[in-house]
Amino acid sequence: MNEVNLTFRRYKDDDDAHVRWNQDVIQSGESDLCPTYIHRTPPCQGSCPSGHDVRGWLSIVRGLDKPPEGMRWEEYAFQRMTEANPFPAIMGRVCPAPCQDGCNRNEVENHVGINSVEQYIGDWARENNLTFPKPEKETGKKVAIVGGGPAGLAAAYFLRRRGHSCTIFESYNTVGGMMCFGIPGYRIPRDVLDHEVNRILDMGGIEVKTNTRVGTDVTIEQLEKEYDAIFWGVGATSGKALPITGAEAPNCVDGMAFLRAFNEGRLQHLSGRILVIGGGDTAMDVAAVARRIGHISQIHEKDRPENVILGQTVHDVVSAARRKGADVWLVYRRPISKAPATKHELEAIISEGVEIHESLAPLEVVLGEDGRAKALKVVPVDWSSGKMVVKEGEEFEIECSMIVGATGQKGDYTGIEEMDNGKGLIDTNRSYQVKSKPGHFVGGDAVKPHLLTTAIGHAAIAVKSMDSHLNSKEIPDIPKVNVHHFSLLQELQDHSMGPEDYDHEQIWGTNESNFAVHNYEDRSPSEIISCDKLFLGHFEHEPINLRQEVKITSEEVLSNFKERFLGLTEEKAVAEANRCMSCGMCFECNNCVLYCPQTAVFRVKKDKHVMGRYVDTDYNKCVGCYICRDVCPTGYIHMGLL
Ligand SMILES: Cc1cc2nc3c(=O)[nH]c(=O)nc-3n(C[C@H](O)[C@H](O)[C@H](O)COP(=O)(O)OP(=O)(O)OC[C@H]3O[C@@H](n4cnc5c(N)ncnc54)[C@H](O)[C@@H]3O)c2cc1C
Ligand code: SF4
Ligand code: SF4
Repeated sequence: MNEVNLTFRRYKDDDDAHVRWNQDVIQSGESDLCPTYIHRTPPCQGSCPSGHDVRGWLSIVRGLDKPPEGMRWEEYAFQRMTEANPFPAIMGRVCPAPCQDGCNRNEVENHVGINSVEQYIGDWARENNLTFPKPEKETGKKVAIVGGGPAGLAAAYFLRRRGHSCTIFESYNTVGGMMCFGIPGYRIPRDVLDHEVNRILDMGGIEVKTNTRVGTDVTIEQLEKEYDAIFWGVGATSGKALPITGAEAPNCVDGMAFLRAFNEGRLQHLSGRILVIGGGDTAMDVAAVARRIGHISQIHEKDRPENVILGQTVHDVVSAARRKGADVWLVYRRPISKAPATKHELEAIISEGVEIHESLAPLEVVLGEDGRAKALKVVPVDWSSGKMVVKEGEEFEIECSMIVGATGQKGDYTGIEEMDNGKGLIDTNRSYQVKSKPGHFVGGDAVKPHLLTTAIGHAAIAVKSMDSHLNSKEIPDIPKVNVHHFSLLQELQDHSMGPEDYDHEQIWGTNESNFAVHNYEDRSPSEIISCDKLFLGHFEHEPINLRQEVKITSEEVLSNFKERFLGLTEEKAVAEANRCMSCGMCFECNNCVLYCPQTAVFRVKKDKHVMGRYVDTDYNKCVGCYICRDVCPTGYIHMGLL
């Protein structure tokens, strides 16, 4: 975080020499370039894998972009948000928010708290029972969706928005995928999950077939025969076995199976020291759950945790009453600062009492006489040269009762082998069509395990491509910046101010005509606005409005399944949205109007005013002095009009 305010000076001494004479055509203090208004994509949006119109919904929250009459701003923001992603309350809670890493406000003091505002809107929508509209007309096309995780559910949602119906085939007994059997309930509360899933299913036209596995219960040929297209959202739900000898021991399990047993309520406690191997999200969740469920020192053979994880038995709740804090170690091959897990989750497990043992490479699972793992043999490694250098001769053993490997995932392609690219994933092109399989589309972890928002972003693009396929049209090229863009034309039309129809007759002097949006260029599909195009000195330091977080210590963690993030209040959500610098879009600060020495820049009349159309320039008065461009904090003004 920057501790000092930025200077309000845009230029340093002697910066006034013009180096681009061909662009800045200065003659006697005048140039022949005048301001034009350029809409670009902000980096928050460019970094959000589902391409959220973040700046757009923050503008609604802060009251700049007004809802249509009779609608609450929260509902308007919810509508804008869910154009890109139908799970705002879930995203607001567990998305690691790459948008915030990309946010230009990081250059001032700290990013905008984007996902806390997202959570606020998501929770408001749930409390107020907002629904998704049903499609205006049905197309009669039917799509088979294989897998009811976030990718499959999002595909169903985007298909319904276009009037296509679908059937979700889900091998598990409920839809939700990792949101239900991977990520623990204290991170995604199950009432929040159920609500956001049901809101999609309530759109109608979505048939759900649970306990139905494609490849076992249904064949690909059947789907091809009965449906107009197929979307593969099968995820990567199987954990990879540790690639070392002894890893076949019964008490050496994978993180996916561990979390599934916990989420199904079968696994109630552990016993002895647990070693978690890995540094990703799965490793964090396993370690955090292990600390929460604790351990019991004396257990019956049948109650051994591995028997429960492997599905041979179920813990009873009575024995859980004897739980104590579990001894949980996280063993990671690299320095822990390089772990891919969300930083926040890593900090949480450390404060909850998980011991971190970094730069240790597992060598072998040491087996006892009973064939069970009794220790993990590791060797310290040095990464200072950038490569892993083993410290020969320093090997040692870490005693343990159970090893949980969380070092990667892959899909199960039994019966659907033709989809497997050999690495447990499905090959795709940029439009999310399955390579060499017309009519087949794919998204989510089946392409590459990543995040919920990524799976949803894939589904949105795949459905766009599918829509062309279903309408026998060519699948369009993917734009460079492929996100859900704000459309000034749409905004004008929504407020009944859209341009008139163009009669295609030749006319002269078009500046007074109303069949076009004047002096405006939409570069959002091709350009992301970087912080050097903004006037950052305009922005004062304002601390981020953080959500209240319940910090759980190692003494409090046992049996603690409470949510950690408490949502923002309305007042704080609005204050946070106000921190947004509106990169690449006018936010009505009036600087250009106030500073223009020619009074050439003016506010448009109220009946012509919408978001993005607040100021205009009288080109008869403009002398091309650049002042409006220099004082525009958002980089919306470009000197370009000749
Ligand atoms: C432990 C863990 C924690 C995570 N934490 C986060 C987090 O905090 N934030 C975040 O953004 N992301 C997180 N992720 C990543 C995120 O969960 C995934 O990226 C996301 O769930 C992928 O969605 P998906 O729909 O592609 O796959 P999945 O969620 O895996 O869903 C696939 C679905 O397909 C079904 N299926 C599979 N094969 C078949 C078949 N042949 N027939 C029928 N159905 C089938 C499965 O049962 C499953 O329901 C985490 C992942 C894990 C494992
Ligand atoms: S889904 Fe994630 S990346 Fe996208 S806006 Fe929300 S928090 Fe940011
Ligand atoms: S300041 Fe606002 S528009 Fe700019 S990157 Fe951050 S959230 Fe996006």
